[in-house]
Amino acid sequence: MEVAVVTVGNELLAGRTTDTNATWLCERLDDRGVTVERVTTVPDRVGDIARVVNEYRAEYDAVIVTGGLGPTHDDLTMDGVAAALGRSLETHDVALAWLEENGYDRQDLASGTTDLPAGARALHNEVGVAPGAALEDVYVLPGVPSEMKAMFETIADEFEGPPKYRATVVADEPESALVERIADLRDGFDVTVGSYPGESVRIELESTDEETVEEAASWLRKRVDLV
Ligand code: ATP
Ligand code: MG
Repeated sequence: MEVAVVTVGNELLAGRTTDTNATWLCERLDDRGVTVERVTTVPDRVGDIARVVNEYRAEYDAVIVTGGLGPTHDDLTMDGVAAALGRSLETHDVALAWLEENGYDRQDLASGTTDLPAGARALHNEVGVAPGAALEDVYVLPGVPSEMKAMFETIADEFEGPPKYRATVVADEPESALVERIADLRDGFDVTVGSYPGESVRIELESTDEETVEEAASWLRKRVDLV
């Protein structure tokens, strides 16, 4: 399964907020065997949100959008997603009923709080107020990290792929010296290889077959200066 993650917010693009939501989602999705193909941050602008959602839902199995929920003027994510899907925004009766059952008075909720794209499934917010939404493989989650995480856990089962196996080899050599051996490794084994230089070079091998990744790692360990 291939997924795109879209984070929404001017404050992310200005560097005032670190995008921990994207990193957290990538990690959780990777744990579930899902490949994240894109992480994109867009401003609080309906057209920009709609454009990436449309592009990514055509390309990938699902799109997860976080941030910009709720009824304030800069919360435009539902508008953007509704525009992408050609739906109107409508008060969602189930979302409203759930909030009422959970102690909120309809009169006290800011207007627009439970407006979701028509036909969406409401995702309840166990930690905050604004509901999320799922519709046509587009999932809309809140921006507040604790709310986003709790809501993701309620839909986590909808994201799965074959488990990936990894091995790490740390080489005490310059990265440039390793080029040929890494090329031979990639020729000889059906693994993806990442090379991450720092003080030493961390070489990460990955495969959906556990034995292949172990064989590739032991082949490489015999051929590099280990730390
Ligand atoms: P609310 O319903 O409270 O308005 P929201 O879903 O609209 O929440 P935002 O308004 O986009 O979310 O962001 C609320 C707060 O969550 C931000 O001030 C920021 O601290 C945090 N936040 C938003 N997006 C991210 C992100 N991608 N990574 C980490 N923190 C984030
Ligand atoms: Mg907000």
